[in-house]
Amino acid sequence: MRNAFRWLAGATAAGAMLAGPPARSQVRALVLDDVRVVDGTGAAAIEHGRIVIQGDRIAQVGPRATVQAPAGAETVDLSGRTIVPGLIDLHFHIENDPKLALRQLSYGVTSFRDPGQWEEKFVELRQMIAADHLPGPRIFTAGPHIDGEHPAYPADSVVARDAEEARRQAEINVRNGATALKIYFRLPFASAKAVIDVCAAHHIPCTAHLELLDARELIAAGLHGIEHVTSLGISVVPRHEAEAYRQAVLADNDARRDGRYKLFARADLDGPEARALYAVLRERRPWLDPTLAVFERRADNPPEDVKPEMIPVLVAGFSKMKQLTRRAGLEGARLVMGGHSTVPYAARGEAPWRELELLVESGLSPLEAITAATGTAAGFLYRSNDLGTLGRGRQADLVVLRDNPLRDIAAIRSVERVMVGGRWVDVARFRQY
Ligand SMILES: [Zn+2]
Repeated sequence: MRNAFRWLAGATAAGAMLAGPPARSQVRALVLDDVRVVDGTGAAAIEHGRIVIQGDRIAQVGPRATVQAPAGAETVDLSGRTIVPGLIDLHFHIENDPKLALRQLSYGVTSFRDPGQWEEKFVELRQMIAADHLPGPRIFTAGPHIDGEHPAYPADSVVARDAEEARRQAEINVRNGATALKIYFRLPFASAKAVIDVCAAHHIPCTAHLELLDARELIAAGLHGIEHVTSLGISVVPRHEAEAYRQAVLADNDARRDGRYKLFARADLDGPEARALYAVLRERRPWLDPTLAVFERRADNPPEDVKPEMIPVLVAGFSKMKQLTRRAGLEGARLVMGGHSTVPYAARGEAPWRELELLVESGLSPLEAITAATGTAAGFLYRSNDLGTLGRGRQADLVVLRDNPLRDIAAIRSVERVMVGGRWVDVARFRQY
C-alpha cells in the first residue's frame, strides 16, 4: 500500500487514471545519488556511487557513471556522505528494555540477535515494530541459554543435566522459533555436542559462551560460532592453569569476573596451546563475536568497585583480549560484531559503535570492522543471500553517514539516516527511546 501511494503521489492524476494501479515492479524507484558506497563485502568503497531501490530491495549499485537512474525515480543527493549496510548486532540483550532495540535502530543497527532469552521477551518489541509498520529491526533469537546445573544466568537459561536433556531443550527452543542455539559454559562436553547436533539437523547456527569448555574440542565437534573472546581463554593457557580457572568458576560463577583478566594477562599467544587453537580456527573457520566492549577496562577511568591493585591486571588482560581477537581473525576465525547492549564505556544504545572502534583498536582496518558488522555477520545468521551487503536483490537496509568511516571508524557515529527494508526510519523519534 505504501509503495503504491508513493507511486501515485509522483504521477499525475490523469496518468494514474490511464495507467491504472501500478504493478509491483513499477513501484517508483528511489535513487541515492553521488554517495560513497561501502557495500559490506569487504570490497573497496565506490566513490560517487549510486544505489537504486525498488520497494524493499536494492535494484542496482555501482558508480553513478554506470548505473542509470530509472525514469521518474525520486532522487536523494547524498554527495559527501557514505552509505554502509545496516549494522547487524549479533550480541544484543533485550532484557526488559524493548525500546533499546529501536534506539539502536536509529543508530544504524537494522538487525540483531539476542543470544539467550525467552521468546516472550520479544513480544512487546514485535508489537512496537508492527504498530509502526516497520520491517525492522530484524529480530533473530536463540531461545534461553542451554546451561548446566547452577546456571550463570538462571532467569535466562534452561538447565540440562545430561546430553539427552540438552538435546530435548534444544529441540524445544527450535520449535519455539529460535534461529540459533546458544550453549552455556556449565554444560559438559557431551551435552554441548548434543546441542551442536540439533543445530546441524535443523541447519541453524550453534553458538556458545565457552569459558569452561575447550574451544578447540567444541569447534572440532562442529560448533559454528563463539560468543566473547573470553571463550578462548582456557584454550590459550597451559592445562593446569585452565583447570584451576575451571574449578574456581564451577565453584562460583562470579570467579570469572576478575579471573578471566588474570588468565588473559598471563596467556602466551604464541605458546603451544594457542597454536593448537589457531590450527583449529584455520581448519574450521568459526565465527567469533568477541564482544570487546563489555570487557573494556581502562587505567584512566576504571570501574568504581575495582581494587586499585587489580587495575594493571584488568588493563593487561583486556589488551591481550584485543590481541587475541586480531590474531584469531588472521588465523581464520570470521570476526563479527556484538555490542552487548550495556557496556562500561558507551552511552545507551552506543555499544555497537564502541565495539566497532575496539575492533579497529585491535588492529582491523575500518573497512574490515564494517565488513565484520555487516557482510560477515549476515553469514553467521545464514542470511548472506539477503542481508548484510548492498547488492542487487538484497534487502534495502542501510545507513547514511555524514563522515567517512574508512578514514576514522568513529564516523560510524555520524548517522544521518537509517533505512530498513526500503523505509526511512524516524531517527529523531527513536533517539528519545
Ligand atoms: Zn551476553
